[in-house]
Amino acid sequence: MKLHVINTGYCKLDGGAMFGVVPKSIWNRANPADENNLCSWAMRCLLIEDGNKLILIDNGIGDKQDAKFFSYYYLHGEDNLINSLYVAGFSPHEVTDMFLTHLHFDHCGGGVKYEDDIPTLTFPHAKYWSNPDHWKWATEPNPREKASFLKDNILPMKESGQLKFINPLEASPFEQFEIGYASGHTDKMMMPMIHYKDKVICFVSDLIPSVGHLPLPYLMAYDTRPLIAMEEKEKFLNEAAENHYILFFEHDPQHECCTVKHTEKGVRVDRTFPLSEIL
Ligand SMILES: [Zn+2]
Repeated sequence: MKLHVINTGYCKLDGGAMFGVVPKSIWNRANPADENNLCSWAMRCLLIEDGNKLILIDNGIGDKQDAKFFSYYYLHGEDNLINSLYVAGFSPHEVTDMFLTHLHFDHCGGGVKYEDDIPTLTFPHAKYWSNPDHWKWATEPNPREKASFLKDNILPMKESGQLKFINPLEASPFEQFEIGYASGHTDKMMMPMIHYKDKVICFVSDLIPSVGHLPLPYLMAYDTRPLIAMEEKEKFLNEAAENHYILFFEHDPQHECCTVKHTEKGVRVDRTFPLSEIL
């Protein structure tokens, strides 16, 4: 099995929204905000190459929304989804499985593009994976989360016939990873726990967006069930410290990976490193 980091670029999001109740005087030290109170965040995806399988986990924000939409998110950086795939040695046609941790636009926007104004799947031969509970949550959204679920990111997957559901009550349909579920950020978010060599690499998605979000109360204001998100994070971090899991961050602007350890204050970062260090 080979793993490839797929950088799809950076966006900016309000620092206050990203750290919830934590005061700016604290989060701003490690995540300096610009004059609009925005901080930079990565949209970092992961590609698993294994035999005849090519599995992409999340695909970034994409490029099909209008200028007004993108004006809120200040996309920046040299990388984009398609180019990063080519750098890894692949074309979109070769992706066999498009695994979506959840359907917020910064995780699934790259999966659908417009061709002559017609929504078309970016990965024409891939199965697109979600689960029934999250799909219902995303297609019948609550008013608070509605702006994060864009119809043109989501509905074409079903219309194409390429959408597949994972049953959360059953074992992972992938032999490359097990799936952890969390419902504090959004309903039934899925986190691949990849068995790689003698290690477990956890794609933590929005359970822990960055190293700065390791302390339990450091929750995003976007989390729909914050107390549940905190419990899920605590349980996961204890497990991660005990089993020496590697956390792979989708949104951390600097750090791709870290390990964690128990300290007097709770579970904290042990070491940060790029994924390439263990490949
Ligand atoms: Zn999210």
